[in-house]
Amino acid sequence: MRSNIKLGKIFGIEIGLHYSWFIIAALITFSLAGHFQIVNRDWKPGVVWGAAIITSLLFFLGLLAHELSHSLVARAHKLPVRRITLFALGGVSVIEKESPDAKTEFLVAIVGPLTSVVIGGVLYGIARLMGGDSEANPVIAVLLWLGTINVALGVFNMLPGFPLDGGRVLRSVVWGITRSMERSTRIAARVGQGVAILFILFGIFQFFRGAGLGGLWIAFIGWFLLQAAGANYMEVELKHALQGLTAGDLMSRDSVVVEGPTSVQDFVDHYLLRTGKRCFMVSVQGRLGGLITAHEVKTLDRELWPSTPVQQIMKPIQQVRVVAPDMPVMEALEMMAQADLNQVPVVANQQVLGILSRGDILQALRSRVELQQKAA
Ligand SMILES: [Zn+2]
Repeated sequence: MRSNIKLGKIFGIEIGLHYSWFIIAALITFSLAGHFQIVNRDWKPGVVWGAAIITSLLFFLGLLAHELSHSLVARAHKLPVRRITLFALGGVSVIEKESPDAKTEFLVAIVGPLTSVVIGGVLYGIARLMGGDSEANPVIAVLLWLGTINVALGVFNMLPGFPLDGGRVLRSVVWGITRSMERSTRIAARVGQGVAILFILFGIFQFFRGAGLGGLWIAFIGWFLLQAAGANYMEVELKHALQGLTAGDLMSRDSVVVEGPTSVQDFVDHYLLRTGKRCFMVSVQGRLGGLITAHEVKTLDRELWPSTPVQQIMKPIQQVRVVAPDMPVMEALEMMAQADLNQVPVVANQQVLGILSRGDILQALRSRVELQQKAA
């Protein structure tokens, strides 16, 4: 999950919003306004809307506190936290490393729901101390709603479906018992898919019983959980397979250099079509000037191929995203996916050591999976 809008940093952790957050924030504010209108029909629109907006902001602050608790516990256990993103279905903490052991995983996972339940309990308690009658006072109405929703959030997150916190708690417990992180991940992912399917079925059932949008919403959350459980499972498998490999390990070293003044026609005839490679370095006056691929050639009219030198259409090296040889392959892959690149040059001390392509990574993945199957 990427952040589209960066809000700033709390405890050094970057906080951001995904565009989908605005849709849900608006929906929640509108439905809260409806709710407060029914709580006391005498409240003026200013009071109703003021309460709705404040409540929905506080609701997201509660979500943020939930995510922050995950992030801070992760960081206390030396797991680097990249950012927290709030989106339509809540928040995600982007933690760069998997927990090294079951206990850390357990603590990082369980602190979130605990935080939500504590926040909810405290707010509910304050509302009770103020008399607990939401009709009497908008502040009490706001506190009661927030108290209930935060407790509900904590309980919902404890459902044992990966990637919900409960799924991670389940995984850590299975991990602690079986001593196998892979087995526990598979089990937690399967249970997660089961929980997701139950959600979808329950949502559809509710819909046909007349719950309308509420039913569809539950089914949609189930569908989301199903996707996320599958994707999470794949990611863990992928990370495991690529563990310990760096960009330098998998790059192709036999990259071909084209002289800058070479015509595009010659480049196509003698390099692009003959070598079967996709990405070439262009040397300009003895130094690396840029990269050229079929993509750049396609942007040039065919009649101009014989008269245009490659250095004129190459992608200048200053504009090329590069990776260091010691960057973990998983990280390089993420960067390539985000920037929509098929290959990146591997650069150290301003020298190109080789080119890392998605093809290289896929090849390495295949060999590793084959070896694992033979070993099993
Ligand atoms: Zn959580």
